[in-house]
Amino acid sequence: MIQLHHVHLSYPGESTALSDVSLRISKGDFVFLTGPSGAGKSTLLKLLYADLKPTRGQVLIDGQNLAMLSKSQIPYLRRSIGVVFQDYKLLPTRTVLENVAITLEVLGWGKREIGQKVYQVLKRMGIADKVNAYPPRLSGGEQQRVALARALVNDPKILIADEPTGNLDDANKEEILSIFKEANVRGTTVVVATHDRRVIENSHRRVIRLEKGHVVEVVDEQK
Ligand code: ADP
Ligand code: ADP
Repeated sequence: MIQLHHVHLSYPGESTALSDVSLRISKGDFVFLTGPSGAGKSTLLKLLYADLKPTRGQVLIDGQNLAMLSKSQIPYLRRSIGVVFQDYKLLPTRTVLENVAITLEVLGWGKREIGQKVYQVLKRMGIADKVNAYPPRLSGGEQQRVALARALVNDPKILIADEPTGNLDDANKEEILSIFKEANVRGTTVVVATHDRRVIENSHRRVIRLEKGHVVEVVDEQK
């Protein structure tokens, strides 16, 4: 489903962020991307949702070379990919309902269907009671659940997360991780960048380690 073939990425005027990265992530996989700060994790994730194009090499999703997508096709790709960031990126002046509804509004859903679907996903995330709250009033863990709800509300094929547990305490980390696992069980392919060793060790999933833009280690799922 996700393939990288000899991918290189250099930022303009900067040194290389990714160097000859090849990997394959199958449909239904749950993969951690790890490595020290500056290793290239965020850059690799940005390639997957076509926020960046590789300098050389190819990124394919379902056989589609992302470099071949026109500007107008990129939104279609992104509809099948949910993205979650460490700093949540929620709209502070919109309610939780409005923040999550955005994903469905762009798909042309009707108001009533949106309300029902958003309520369902908030329930799954354990924050149905926050539907009318504004994000700045919520705890970090709650804000991350809203971000997850927004990413998962349309059952994306792929869920991408960049340091999703970075600002959370241990109890919240566990719960956020169990939401990722549940999404994976429902069929979503999950790719999580993290340098949190405990999160990785406790979950027994496949781990791809980057250092200085190279894949230096791949550890397969331990059951
Ligand atoms: P990680 O997510 O593992 O911390 P990044 O992908 O953010 O690593 O960064 C990889 C390298 O690319 C680092 O050296 C970083 O400074 C550089 N980099 C990241 N984003 C940019 C950018 N927008 N412009 C220039 N250099 C960047
Ligand atoms: P992370 O470690 O999660 O990748 P960073 O602090 O490296 O976060 O990056 C935060 C933002 O700054 C990203 O959008 C990244 O692209 C950008 N960035 C990172 N390094 C550089 C850099 N050397 N020059 C310009 N932008 C950068």
